[in-house]
Amino acid sequence: MNDDKKPSDANSVDTQHLIDLLDNNSDWVWEVDAQGRYTWSSKVVTSLLGVSPEEVIGCTPFDFMPPGEAERVGRAFSEIAAKRIPFSGLVNRNRRADGRIVVLETSGVPLFDEQGELRGYRGIDRNISTLDERVMQLETIYDKTPVALCMIDRQGHLVMSNKAMAQLMNLDNTPPDAPESRIADLMPGCWQQFEAAFALADTGVEIPSREIVWHTRCYDTHSVPVHDASGNVVGLSVTWVDITDRRRAEQKLASANTILQQHAQHDHLTGLFNRRYMDECLSNAITHALEERVPLSVCLADIDYFKRYNDTYGHQAGDRCLRRVAEALVAARRQSEDNVSRYGGEEFLVILPRTDSAGALAMAERMRQSINALRIPLPASPTGYLTISIGIATLNERSMVREERPLHIIASGVINQADTALYAAKRRGRNGVVAAAAMQRGESTR
Ligand code: GH3
Ligand code: MG
Ligand code: MG
Repeated sequence: MNDDKKPSDANSVDTQHLIDLLDNNSDWVWEVDAQGRYTWSSKVVTSLLGVSPEEVIGCTPFDFMPPGEAERVGRAFSEIAAKRIPFSGLVNRNRRADGRIVVLETSGVPLFDEQGELRGYRGIDRNISTLDERVMQLETIYDKTPVALCMIDRQGHLVMSNKAMAQLMNLDNTPPDAPESRIADLMPGCWQQFEAAFALADTGVEIPSREIVWHTRCYDTHSVPVHDASGNVVGLSVTWVDITDRRRAEQKLASANTILQQHAQHDHLTGLFNRRYMDECLSNAITHALEERVPLSVCLADIDYFKRYNDTYGHQAGDRCLRRVAEALVAARRQSEDNVSRYGGEEFLVILPRTDSAGALAMAERMRQSINALRIPLPASPTGYLTISIGIATLNERSMVREERPLHIIASGVINQADTALYAAKRRGRNGVVAAAAMQRGESTR
């Protein structure tokens, strides 16, 4: 008798143990018949849907869903039941007895009778409300961000993309992540860059940001590799930040800077370099001459009797005359590195790199003659036309060897020497050239 009883006791202990297991875990275990009506329910349903297991029996899962959701899940489940197959991960929204929505993930396996007919399903429901809420929050952020985001697989398919990405591709707000959407087709010309990014990612090198111009806009794209469980690169997560406005502002700033620099370096009347810029050029030219041990000369030219010109023809005519003189001096240069500037009112400075005193004298003479050749009438001048006088100073190799003065002192020394030579040229009757080195020897050219 005892022997007979033992297995039965053991069975009931095992059954109770199983029921305890089913009732005391987070998953709701249930069975439904072929019409989808609950025929058995573990007690977990109370915590999930707020109803007792007894209340559930005879109901279908769709009785606990809002109408639209019931329709959607019903369709999905009908297909599964028609195929009599197991299913998992069927996410559905349910309304609890207290009105709150609970999101469940349902999995089940089909049950068959002895004739092989579908008897129903047995399965579990898991509460994924918290997870779902989190996913929904992330989805909202993903979709609402103004930055275009997408995921590309190795074949170039757009696995995922947000609304901003759809807008970027002009796709009417429809995220183009249909499996057949390929970035190579949607954005011809861009795929090559992503192929290169995949190649870099394979070698473990960080992918640098790239600027991509698409239609009329410019994007700063940043690709991050996506790995599978084995560490293989299976995709790229790409952000597209629209930097068109920034680039345009930078371009405006750059052109404004160029104009500003142009203004800062040039004399507005003649278009020649101005004195400030020329002082800078002279310092650079002196540095270069000292380093290379090559001579450097400067010519300081001044229009003769220019006050009389203004007095005779008026200030505006004087301005036009200054422009003609400027053009003639520029035309007389040997090479473009001979910088010509308007150094003062009717004074012009010419820097002649790699030029000794003899070379500078020849150059100055050319300039003097080029102004003579203009034959600009000036009755108040002894010659009857406009002339210039030029003073020359040269920094030669010999003086450089012992040159230890600061750069700006050397520069002002050179200018002073040229100015003194110019003064000498004026004293000697104007329309002439005097070199500082030759001053003491009384030499000049005319
Ligand atoms: P010198 O032969 O001794 O150099 O005689 P100068 O008359 O040329 O010299 P001065 O220094 O007496 O006069 C320079 C004149 O240059 C006076 C000034 O009005 C004129 N001047 C300076 N800058 C400008 C300018 O931008 N436009 C015009 N039209 N005249 C200018
Ligand atoms: Mg003058
Ligand atoms: Mg003067």
